[in-house]
This record gives sequence, structure tokens and C-alpha cells, in this order.
Amino acid sequence: MKLLMKIGIALLFLSMISCSKKQQQHWYKEAHKEQSHETHWSYDGETSPEHWAEFEKNSDCSGQRQSPVNIIDIHTIEDRDQKSLINLHYSAETILNKVRNNGHSIQFDFDKGDSISYNETNYNLIQIHFHEPSEHTVNGVRYPIEIHLVHQSQEKNYTVLGIFGVEGEQSQTMEDMEKFLPLQKGQEKEIEKSFDLSKLFPDNKSYYSYGGSLTTPPCTENVQWVIFKEPIVVSLEEVLKLKDNMPLENFRDEQPLNDRLVYLHKM
Ligand SMILES: [Zn+2]
Repeated sequence: MKLLMKIGIALLFLSMISCSKKQQQHWYKEAHKEQSHETHWSYDGETSPEHWAEFEKNSDCSGQRQSPVNIIDIHTIEDRDQKSLINLHYSAETILNKVRNNGHSIQFDFDKGDSISYNETNYNLIQIHFHEPSEHTVNGVRYPIEIHLVHQSQEKNYTVLGIFGVEGEQSQTMEDMEKFLPLQKGQEKEIEKSFDLSKLFPDNKSYYSYGGSLTTPPCTENVQWVIFKEPIVVSLEEVLKLKDNMPLENFRDEQPLNDRLVYLHKM
């Protein structure tokens, strides 16, 4: 009897050890997954956009409301609703916190300052980054670059402004931004200085809008897209300098529009 009890206690003890070991392994795996998330996906090879949905299991990457899309002018619906008029509140005093090469793009992180109001909601600018060439296309045409200005509301919903760039004259704002380059993959620079983004926008503020997703994993479908129709002009040298600091062709292909509508707000 005593012997049986001893064996029982020993077995219980052993199972406790193996259980906590399993838990530890699980925790390690989860923590590691979290850490490596930033570099897991890419724009080429086995981790390119067509595979995102396979290995990003909990993502929306295979959803029905994905971005980017091809905007077809004759299919857009003119939006005359004043409520959906976008208002830009950009100031020359907003602090550029840091510039970094996150391995997917060059990203500029801003402190709270610049914001927009859209559909009666306020969204704060968080960061801007670049795609070369553009992700959205208009009537099948892909622009040399697309700048994404990522804004977030208090409810954690996104409105991303997209600005296309065509090649021509030099852009002073682009020159000012590119002063912080080059940056190697994973490298970042603390800036902590005011930066005026208000001059980055095209003169004519007519825009397309539609409901979509983040164009990178986890491809979350809580993004309102506002794409300015008129491109800004940047120099070939400015495009090439960006290109040198980012993965080659960091864009996701056109996603099906499905039952969504694209609106045009004329200004
Ligand atoms: Zn983007």
C-alpha cells in the first residue's frame, strides 16, 4: 500500500513537471512568434503577397474587402455628401519622432499633432511610408510611387490617405524627407524635430474613397481609403533614392473589388 502511494506521488510529480515544461515551450513559441512577426512576410519568394493568407493564419489577407484595388474612373460614383468631405488639420509644428527602415518600407513616425476629420470622426496621423511603384492603380495605370499617410481614430479604426507621385520637377518636401536616408534594413534614426507635411499634398484635393484593408499582413479590414486623384510631382532622383532604401517593388497586387463601390469627391 505504502509503495503504491509512493509511486502515485512520483507519477503526479512527473506529470506536473512535464506540464509546466509544455507551458513554457508554448509561451516561448508565442513570444517568439510575436517578435518575428515584423520580418515574417515579404514581397518576393515563399513569403510574397500570394502566400500571406497561408502563413498569416489569423489575418484577413484572404478576405472579401481587401486593398489595394484598381480604380476605374467611369465606375466611380460622385459623392456630393458634405459629411464625407475630408478636412486636413496639418501643422508645421508637428514633431517627426523617428525615421526607420522596417524592412518593408521607409517609415516616418510622428508624435500627436497632424490629424484629419472624415465622416464626422477625428483621426490622428501616426506614420507615413512609401511604395515603389504604387499599390493602387487608376484605369489600370500604376504610378511610380504611392505615399501612405496612416491615421487612426480613438476607436482604432484607420483612414489612410494615398498620394501618387509622377516624375518631373524636384519636390522640396521629398528632399527634406530624404535627407534622413540612407537607412539600412532594421536601422532607425531619432529625429524629434518639427516637420511640415502640409506641402506634400496635391493642389487639387479631389479624391476617391472606398472601404478596404491594410495592404500588409494582417490585412485588417477596418480601413477607409482616401486616394487623391491628382498626383504630386517628384524627381526621378527622389524616386531612385527611395527605391535604393526599400525592397524591390514593395507593392501588393490588385485585389478584387467584389460588391464594394468607389466614390469620387470632386473639389
Ligand atoms: Zn502602405
